[in-house]
Amino acid sequence: NAAKKPPQSRGEVKASPAFYQFDKFPEYKEFTTMEWYLDKEKYPRTQFLKRLSVSDATVNLEGREMINYSTYNYLGLAGDARVKEAAKRAVDTFGTSTGSGRSITGEIELHRAFENEICEVLGTEDAVLSVGGYSTNTFAIGYLCRNKDLILYDELIHNSALAGCKMTAARRIGFPHNDYEALEALLAENRGKFERVLILVEGVYSMDGDIPDLPRLIDIKRRYKALLMVDEAHSFGIIGPNGLGVTDYFDFDPHDVDIYFGSLSKSFGTCGGYIAGPKPLIAMLKYFAPGVLLYGAAPTPANTAAGLEALRIMRAEPQRARRLVDNARYFVQRAKAAGLDTYNSHDSAVVPLMCRDSELALWLSMALFGQGICAYPMLHPIVPRDKSRLRFFINTFHTHQQLDYTIQCIVDNLRVAPKSKGVF
Ligand code: PMP
Repeated sequence: NAAKKPPQSRGEVKASPAFYQFDKFPEYKEFTTMEWYLDKEKYPRTQFLKRLSVSDATVNLEGREMINYSTYNYLGLAGDARVKEAAKRAVDTFGTSTGSGRSITGEIELHRAFENEICEVLGTEDAVLSVGGYSTNTFAIGYLCRNKDLILYDELIHNSALAGCKMTAARRIGFPHNDYEALEALLAENRGKFERVLILVEGVYSMDGDIPDLPRLIDIKRRYKALLMVDEAHSFGIIGPNGLGVTDYFDFDPHDVDIYFGSLSKSFGTCGGYIAGPKPLIAMLKYFAPGVLLYGAAPTPANTAAGLEALRIMRAEPQRARRLVDNARYFVQRAKAAGLDTYNSHDSAVVPLMCRDSELALWLSMALFGQGICAYPMLHPIVPRDKSRLRFFINTFHTHQQLDYTIQCIVDNLRVAPKSKGVF
C-alpha cells in the first residue's frame, strides 16, 4: 500500500497530460534553440559555473583563475577581512537567521544601525533595510502607486522597477533614455490628470553605464510637482568625489530626490536593499508595504552586519571608489584608443562593449573566456538584438596590466571574428 512506500520510489513516472507538458511551452522552445546552437557551435557552457573563491578583480571558476569583469563587488568589500569579521560576529551573537519579519521579533540592532548610517550619508530623514535589492525596489514602487497615479520611467530602468510598475494599477509610460524633452512633454500632456506622478531613473544605468542629468530632472520634477525616485544600485559607493552616490556627485540638496533606492549586492558586497527618504514615506513602507518588511523575513544578521561594516569602510576609505572610477576611465580610454565602442559609459564602473549582434557578443565572450577573461554577453531579451554587448564591471582591484591585456585580447579576437549567421 502507498503509505508504506519509501519516499524515493513513488512508482513509475507517467506521461503528463498535454496541458502539463512544460517542454511544449514556447518559452522552453526558445531555451532549446539556444542550447542547440551552443552545442552545434561547440561553445563551452559558461553559465552556472561553480565559483571557488571570492570574486573581485579575479575569480576562480571551476578551478580556473580568471580576470573577472562579471562581479558586482566593485569595491572588493565582499572579501574584506573587516567585513567578514563583522558578519561572523553577528552570526555568533544572533545566529544565522532573524527567524521572522522585523516587526515581530526579527529586528536586531544592526538593522537600525545600518538605516541610521545610510541616512547620515544621504542626508535623508529615514530609511528602511530589507532582505533583497530586487524585491525592495519592486515592492516599494508596487505599494506606492495607485490607479489615479502616473509613473513615468526611463526606458532603461532595471527590471525590478518595471516589475514594481506592473504591480500597480497606475498608468505607466516609458520615456526614451535620458530624453528630458520627451519627459517634459509627457508631464505637460498629463498635467492635472493624475493625483501623483512618479518619475523613475537610475543613478548609473546598469546596462549603459551612464549617469542621468539629475539637476535637470530636479528642475523638471519641481516645475511639474512630481516625485523623483533614483535607483542607486550602481551609483552608491562609486560615483562622486567621495564615492557616495548621486548626492555626492551632483552636490544638490538631498531632499530634492524624494525616494532613494539602493542595493547591498553591489558596492556593499553583501545582499539586501534599502529605501531612504522622508519619515512618513518610510513609516508607510515599514508598516504597510507587502514584501518590503511585511510578510517576509528580516535581512540576515550576517548580511546586515556586512552591509554596515562596508558602509563604514566606504566612508573612511573614499580612495577605493576613486581608484575604481580611475580604472574605469582608463579602460574606456584605452578601449576608445583601440577603436572599440564603449557606447554611453561615463564616469561609472559599468562599461559596455558594443557588438550590436547577439552571435558576435556570444562568440567574443567565449573567445575571451578561453583567454582567461570572464566577461558575460548581454543578449536579447536583456537588451535589443542590435544593442547586444559584453558588459564589463570594473573593479577597484583591477591592475592596468589586466585592463591592457583585456583590451588587447578583444582587439585580436575581433580581427578574426566569424561572420554572424543571424541565428538568434
Ligand atoms: N536595480 C538595478 C539597477 C540593478 O542592477 C539591480 C541588480 N542587478 C537591482 C536593482 C537589484 O538588486 P539586487 O541585486 O540587490 O537584487
